[in-house]
This record gives sequence, C-alpha cells and structure tokens, in this order.
Amino acid sequence: LHSRAFQEENSVIHVGNELIGKQQPQFIIGPCSVESHEQVYRVAEEMSKRGVSLLRGGAFKPRTSPYDFQGLGIEGLQILAEVARTYNMSVVTEIMSPESIAEAYDYVDVIQIGSRNMHNFDLLKTVGKLDKPVLLKRGLSATIHEFKMAAEYILNEGNKNVILCERGIRTYETATRNTFDISAIPILKQETHLPVFADISHAAGRKDILLPQAKAAFAAGADGIMAEVHPNPAVALSDAKQQMDLLEFAQFMDQLHHFLNRF
Ligand code: PEP
Ligand code: MN
Repeated sequence: LHSRAFQEENSVIHVGNELIGKQQPQFIIGPCSVESHEQVYRVAEEMSKRGVSLLRGGAFKPRTSPYDFQGLGIEGLQILAEVARTYNMSVVTEIMSPESIAEAYDYVDVIQIGSRNMHNFDLLKTVGKLDKPVLLKRGLSATIHEFKMAAEYILNEGNKNVILCERGIRTYETATRNTFDISAIPILKQETHLPVFADISHAAGRKDILLPQAKAAFAAGADGIMAEVHPNPAVALSDAKQQMDLLEFAQFMDQLHHFLNRF
C-alpha cells in the first residue's frame, strides 16, 4: 500500500490549511518538550511571523533514563492545543502507547510515532485505525525496508495519512548524535507515494549544521523538515544542545528561504 507501484501519484495529507505532500517547503517547529505555556507560546509567536503552522512539542517523552524529565503528559497536550488555537496552528506530538490515545485524541492533529516506537506494532496498528494523520519516524537503527514496512502496518489498518520522517540513524560516528541519512529521502520519494520529512535536529544533535542539513534535505526532495526551537535552550529540560533559540530560528528561516528561492 505504501509503494509507488500501488499508487503513482503523491499522497496529499490535509493538516489544518496545509497540504502536506503537495505544497513544499513545510515546517514542523517547536520545542523538544513542552515545559510551560509561556515557553510554547513564545516559539509559536515566532513561527506565526513566518507562516509556519505545524507546532511540535513532546508531552510524553521517550527518555533514555527514567530519572530524566518524562514530559508534562496531558497538561502538556493542553498547553499545545491552547497555543495552537491562539495562532491557528496544528499540533504534532508524540504518543507512546495505545492506552494514552483516547485521552490525547482531542488535543492532537498529527500523531507522532517516535523512533523508539517504530517497531511497536501494536501502537502502529492502533494508530492505523484512527482518522488522524500519523508522522512516523524512522527507527534508531531501522533499514529503509523496515521503515516502509512500519508504514505498511498503519496503512494496512485503513489510515492512509502517513508522513515518513527520516531522523538520522545509528552509526559509529560520534561527531553527530545520529547520522543524517540523506539518501533515504530520494529513495523514499521514489519508492513510496507518502510525504517525506527530515528531522534535522535529532539527526544532528547539534545546532551549528542545521542550515546545511535543511538545504540538503530540500535539495534531496523532502516535503518538509522538523526542527526544535526553544526560547532559552540552555535551560531546556531535554535536548538542550540541539535546540535553536528564537533569534537563531529567525536567521535559519531567512537564510533557508533565501536558498530555496534561488531554485
Ligand atoms: C522527538 O521528535 O521528540 C523525538 C523524541 O525524536 P525521535 O523519536 O526521532 O528520537
Ligand atoms: Mn528532542
């Protein structure tokens, strides 16, 4: 169901006023974790100045250590929904278990399946039965074939609104948090009809190479990118090193648009 052979034309996914898979470039922007109303509000304010309407933020956080900040849960989703309503945005947020879908449902516009859950087939089947778009992130060490098959699990349950997201893979390299697999983008665009995003923040784990990574992603055919932005990254409760501050985000968008307008 995911393949170009099955469906030749691109799938177009409606999220708010955005037509994902049809209008490029798209941006999913927001903090790593939802920490407060003020924090999300300030990021959304900057986004809205640039016409970015897909707001991300984690309320259920898949942290490596159980002692690290686990997210605000439902309170975090309420903050996202409130800010999104203020700015006419859509909420993209991770759901980690089938059990939390019911209580999260009304606050969420796009359900994110995180890298660590790409192989959680029960979760994939559950979101496959929903009528909300799903942003499926590539597993930490998933091959492209495994990634496509994870999408197939969702499609096979009837949900046709799947967005794929490359977010870097594990390699021996330590200069970056993950290795951004640029080649996955044209391969997924060729072999599937689904929109393809690139999460440049989690791929890099650092913020000094986000602009070249974003340029590369769009040049490779990505429909959109995801990036993390925080009003004060130094005190962020997660991923402090890789989040752009508001000024860095403004400059990033200006420079990226300048680059994209040359095509
Ligand atoms: C995220 O986007 O919030 C996240 C945790 O990313 P990943 O699942 O790709 O690690
Ligand atoms: Mn993060």
